[in-house]
Amino acid sequence: MTPRELDRHDTEAAIFDRACFRLADGDADLIEKAKAFGARVLAPRAAQHDRDATFPIENFRDMHREGLLAICVPREAGGAGASFRTYCLAAAELGRYCGATTLSWNMHVSSTLWTGALADDLDMTAEQRAEHNARRKLHYRRIVDDGAIYSQPFSEGGAAAAGIVAFGTEARPVDGGFVVNGKKIFASLSGSADYYGVLCTERGEGEAASRRNTIYLAIPANAPGVSVVGDWDPLGMRGTVSRTLLLKDVFVPEQEMLMPHGVYYKAATSWPHMFLTLSPTYMGLAQAAYDFTVSYLRGELPGTPPVKRRMYPTKQIAVAEMRLMLEQTKALWFQSISEACANPGKDRVLRAYAAQFTVMENASALATKAIRTCGGQAMLKSLALERIYRDSRCGSLMLPWTAEICLDRLGRETLYEPGEKDE
Ligand SMILES: Cc1cc2nc3c(=O)[nH]c(=O)nc-3n(C[C@H](O)[C@H](O)[C@H](O)COP(=O)(O)OP(=O)(O)OC[C@H]3O[C@@H](n4cnc5c(N)ncnc54)[C@H](O)[C@@H]3O)c2cc1C
Repeated sequence: MTPRELDRHDTEAAIFDRACFRLADGDADLIEKAKAFGARVLAPRAAQHDRDATFPIENFRDMHREGLLAICVPREAGGAGASFRTYCLAAAELGRYCGATTLSWNMHVSSTLWTGALADDLDMTAEQRAEHNARRKLHYRRIVDDGAIYSQPFSEGGAAAAGIVAFGTEARPVDGGFVVNGKKIFASLSGSADYYGVLCTERGEGEAASRRNTIYLAIPANAPGVSVVGDWDPLGMRGTVSRTLLLKDVFVPEQEMLMPHGVYYKAATSWPHMFLTLSPTYMGLAQAAYDFTVSYLRGELPGTPPVKRRMYPTKQIAVAEMRLMLEQTKALWFQSISEACANPGKDRVLRAYAAQFTVMENASALATKAIRTCGGQAMLKSLALERIYRDSRCGSLMLPWTAEICLDRLGRETLYEPGEKDE
């Protein structure tokens, strides 16, 4: 390495270096492949989809060709078999180049991760396990062979997506399947997904609604009774096209169950890190805000005049503060995604809330600081920082672990053991 190369800020480097973070070669290769894909394919298309608030369907077609749609599909079913952590690290790399594509991709990948590696970690009866293994083959085949895209519309605008009450979207058992009625807001990939991975409450005649009866169904986008309504013109993450999904008397065959009865509830209560999957995109955005700032101040940002601004002490202090915040964010997040497992102890769960809160809030704080530090010319829409600033603002709003809910749980679950009450 020449002195010049040492001196340059290397935006090509992975966020988590394979040697420093002791990654296995196979995992690091997959993560680097995702990074190269992000730089080559996602970055050039990101600005237009952001401007027009259109869904980047061609990115998903290319992800299929690249094997990334099946990153968490088990190897025996034709996928890359990535673990929870490897997926998170790959998604962080993609998030550096296009937040909206990566967040939408997360919705798709989670449907395979939750039914794959995560479900393998859960207790199931032999009968449930056999049923699950047989059914998930169908979903994996559609993804691996046909490039099918799955989404994850859970939010309803009430307290259900936060895990407080049962989902208002209901599935009535009928011969051969279910009839589903309900409404999902912020359904990323609406109009573009082939299957909507919907959480709903299974409820027979006269039964009370219960979270324990949550079922997870893949509803074909072309099933009669499925429609997408409303506008989509938000502040950030515009390319997710998260419009409202309406389900009116939709018949869903039993084979479309993504998990057997009772297993989603078990996953949500015993594998809580499953909700950390929204954070990798924002880890990538945090890194992107930092990279932008360093390159810009050094006069090395492509598309800008080679004007250096690094000689001012205020810039140096700002970059130092950004580096501190980035290192703290990376360290906490890496630890938390590395220790995810079934039935984690209280300490790991509290750390997961802390990691989610930190990534979501710090991504936004880093982007804000990047704009103040780089100055007016850096926030023009022709450069990526302005988009990173708006996209990063959305992280704290993602249920079920919004920044406020993480704070709320961190405080309460630190001070109270389960079941404890004050007199
Ligand atoms: C770009 C984008 C894409 C999205 N994509 C999807 C998607 O694909 N699928 C999906 O299901 N959802 C998606 N969402 C929705 C998201 O997860 C939330 O459901 C949505 O932002 C909630 O908005 P709301 O106004 O209904 O929030 P509300 O539920 O009204 O909450 C407002 C705020 O109050 C706080 N709050 C809520 N409940 C509690 C509580 N019990 N305790 C303490 N504080 C609380 C939270 O901080 C929350 O931010 C997306 C959101 C965005 C912004």
